[in-house]
Amino acid sequence: MSEPGARFRPARLGSADPPPLTRIGPNPARPHFVLCCDHASNAVPAHMERLGLAQAELDRHIGWDIGAATVTHALSARLGAPAYLSGYSRLLIDCNRPPGSPTAMPAVSDGTVVPANRAITPEEAVARTDAFFRPYHDAIAACLDAALAAGAVPVVVAVHSFTPVFGGVSRPWQIGLLYEHDDRLVRPLKAALRALRPGLVVGDNEPYAIVGPSDYSIPVHGQGRGLPHIEIELRQDLIGTRAGAEAWAATLATALRRVRAALAPLAIEMRVPPEAG
Ligand SMILES: [Zn+2]
Repeated sequence: MSEPGARFRPARLGSADPPPLTRIGPNPARPHFVLCCDHASNAVPAHMERLGLAQAELDRHIGWDIGAATVTHALSARLGAPAYLSGYSRLLIDCNRPPGSPTAMPAVSDGTVVPANRAITPEEAVARTDAFFRPYHDAIAACLDAALAAGAVPVVVAVHSFTPVFGGVSRPWQIGLLYEHDDRLVRPLKAALRALRPGLVVGDNEPYAIVGPSDYSIPVHGQGRGLPHIEIELRQDLIGTRAGAEAWAATLATALRRVRAALAPLAIEMRVPPEAG
């Protein structure tokens, strides 16, 4: 290996590098759901030499959300919903962090030093943001703009996954439902999931809570527009196989459909407190 973790050079992106986002699913004028998967991929531009990391590091949870893309594909198909998947590793740029966030391009992640993220210049940070983050979020925003213009009130669903063990402690939840100020969907979705899978341990803002200034997709695309929304965290050991991911997508699709029907008609509701606005 030559330079460990080469700098990002937009001009060196080539035909072998994936696009910054993948859009899948149908394009209904009035979508009931719009899906996003911020950590779908562990790809790194070829010229950046895996950010100076061993492939095994990119393959573990610090590189991406294991299983989340497979769930998103299956969920999009079952719901007939447009879905947006980011094209690159969260270590290159985290599409669920606001630009400028200290964790958007982490120099250390879960104990692993990321060589290409040490001493990033402001110019490189802007270049990564423009090349990967903006196209992904611009596409989601355009989809929601069009849906709203058509009179639809889509539910924004963000799909993530989490590690079964963190800091030596096993996490009890199979699934977590995350939100900040707008909890419209939380209780009905919890009930719908438990009806489908009795005994399910559902995290309520576990294993994480959404915090507006440090998260991005749900605060901006859901909460910021007053659209109903939920961030779904699935435990990685349950969705690491295609069969597991498909089964969870089936459960989620049924639960989300039931909740949407039960709460109809859904409205645009701004629930951000004025002082936080
Ligand atoms: Zn994630």
